[in-house]
Amino acid sequence: MNIPGVTIIKGSKAGPKVGIIACTHGNEPTGLSILRQLKTIKPTHGTLILIHNNLKATRLKKRFCDLNMNRLPSDALSQKSPKQYEVKRLQQLYPILKNLDYVLDIHTTSAMPEPFVVILTKTIPAIAKKLGIPNIISNMAKIQKDKAFISFCGSSKAIRIGVECGLHGTKESRQTAQTAAINFLSEIGIIKKGKIPTTWPRPALYQLIGSIMAPQRGYKLTRLLKPFEKLKKGEHILIKKGSKPVIIPFSCQVLLPPKTTTIQYPNEELFFTIKQL
Ligand SMILES: [Zn+2]
Repeated sequence: MNIPGVTIIKGSKAGPKVGIIACTHGNEPTGLSILRQLKTIKPTHGTLILIHNNLKATRLKKRFCDLNMNRLPSDALSQKSPKQYEVKRLQQLYPILKNLDYVLDIHTTSAMPEPFVVILTKTIPAIAKKLGIPNIISNMAKIQKDKAFISFCGSSKAIRIGVECGLHGTKESRQTAQTAAINFLSEIGIIKKGKIPTTWPRPALYQLIGSIMAPQRGYKLTRLLKPFEKLKKGEHILIKKGSKPVIIPFSCQVLLPPKTTTIQYPNEELFFTIKQL
């Protein structure tokens, strides 16, 4: 099967199918540099599948073309002759995605240097704590709008993990992504452990509990927020002249705050709210 943007490397013995994905958002070059490095790896067994996901958006230097590829509609697989590039691309990749046993989707952000692991479910798989990333956020599938790309990968038993490695294109985010990818492959057992440390700092565990969205255009944040900042119940967080303010519904912490007080993507969550476990 020859699909653009996909590299398949087979080990000499049978074993799990492991997908490493980069550029689910087109403008996140960190993941691509990791894919380039991984192309030289030879797994001892199983199959390593490297996927440059949103090819067209990368070419256009954009986050996405028609749709945020991490916010796909739930009927994205069953749509007949879809018009949106990201839905077409999902369908093109699906023959490969559906068979994956393990998935690591590498992301970076524009506003949050602190790396974190994203898990769709409330249950956190053991491997997520061994990636060398200091924070783990669970319960994404319930809270986020529409469907994350990795939720289309493998069966419900597959281990599906997203990693936010820090700021786009920095040395630090490349280092974090590289460590996470190598740890992921060696913990699964398809590459040799080599020089990888066997002890891990214990990551902090958080659960997603909600998100804040603007009810309509014209709302602005009342102030800039910091990642993991604590918010008190009742704080006015979004305002618009002549409209009701948006209020923080329960005490929580901030995940992925926007970098400006104006709203860039009105159809997406402005930021997520989390609580420490
Ligand atoms: Zn991303």
